[in-house]
Amino acid sequence: MKFSEFYAPTKRDAAKQDSVNAYLLAKAGYISQVAAGVYALLPLAVRSLQKIEQVVREEMNSIGGNEVVFSALQPKSTWEKSGRWDDENFRQIVYIDQDADMTFGATHEEPMSIAVKEKVQSYRDLPVILYQFQTKFRKELRAKSGLLRGREFRMKDLYSFHPDNESHHEFYESAATAYLRVFKRLGLDAYRVKASGGVFSKEYSDEFQVICPTGEDEILVNHKTKTGFNKEVEADISVAEKDKLERVKAIEVGNIFHLGSKYSDAFDLKYLNKDGVRKSIVMGSYGIGITRLLGTISELFHDQNGLVLPKQVAPFQAYLIDLTNSKDGVGLYNTLTKAGFEVLFDDREMPAGAKFVEADLIGIPVRLVLSPKTKAENAVELKERSSDTSTVVLLKEVSKVLEKIFS
Ligand code: ATP
Ligand code: MG
Repeated sequence: MKFSEFYAPTKRDAAKQDSVNAYLLAKAGYISQVAAGVYALLPLAVRSLQKIEQVVREEMNSIGGNEVVFSALQPKSTWEKSGRWDDENFRQIVYIDQDADMTFGATHEEPMSIAVKEKVQSYRDLPVILYQFQTKFRKELRAKSGLLRGREFRMKDLYSFHPDNESHHEFYESAATAYLRVFKRLGLDAYRVKASGGVFSKEYSDEFQVICPTGEDEILVNHKTKTGFNKEVEADISVAEKDKLERVKAIEVGNIFHLGSKYSDAFDLKYLNKDGVRKSIVMGSYGIGITRLLGTISELFHDQNGLVLPKQVAPFQAYLIDLTNSKDGVGLYNTLTKAGFEVLFDDREMPAGAKFVEADLIGIPVRLVLSPKTKAENAVELKERSSDTSTVVLLKEVSKVLEKIFS
């Protein structure tokens, strides 16, 4: 991509924001604030979010997930039927269209249950695993942390439908393992943390938490086992266990729940077992905060000059600056692009110093600088964003070096 054709409104001085992530992402031209907790996602953010979603998609497919796209609008009547309309905790977070008696989806247990009813009759039709990437709407009272807590935000939500508890628990564990793979692939060190079932269920739930001083949650963790407890269930921890735990601040990037048959029973979603007996379906729900992940990564990976994004998440792989008056920069850009690398070529007419500043701000993992000096040696200067030192790489070797960095 040539920067002259790319829309990234970077700012020299960004307005103060409610959080580090919002400040950096706005300054680097990834997002633009519309209102508290509401952001427009610009091309750099879209590219990063697509990468995050692709990792999540691959891992959800690997455990048997079927990708769907459900509507954000849901009839209020379905929430009355599940009993959630009368649940104060829930009703206070939903946006409502009074005229049409619809709500904007804050979560999708109801429509998923209704849809699955169309197909499932017998044990042969189970399990069913559906997931989607969607914009969710919630009236968040404390939308003061940038992408960490939006009133409109992207979520991956998965719903599983099983013939019995055993089958559900088995899937629940495979989902937990897949979640840990997702966070690891995104460069995050996530802890599996016990929490209350919240408004979704009476059982425990599992949260996936990333330690971060600016996080909203307080958790007690065991660094050896990478597990822990949310403060809300602290009373249930034995004294012996508690000795091994450290109390830290963290961000919840994912959450998985046992739903039992609360929703399936509400919608009379049942099946016939092998003996012809009508049984309740057991459900689980599994969320990952996609935009919250970009926020979390920005909170964790930056320095005084800007973002330092992990390779798997950065919108481009390399940022190319040409300081020569030749067309050699274009040649290198074409070569690398043809080889399949994602290069942002800064071909704008502006001072070199400003380009260096923006390269750091946007946080692309590799910076390539072609100067008269390196050109004379048929080489280019290569610097990783996370490193203080640069190397000179022969032009004919650049692809090989990049391949190694991104392998
Ligand atoms: P929290 O306790 O942070 O409010 P939650 O328990 O309400 O989260 P879920 O309903 O389980 O969250 O949603 C699944 C995932 O979606 C969460 O783990 C989180 O990563 C993300 N998420 C939830 N609410 C928001 C929000 N307001 N903005 C951005 N991401 C969110
Ligand atoms: Mg919430």
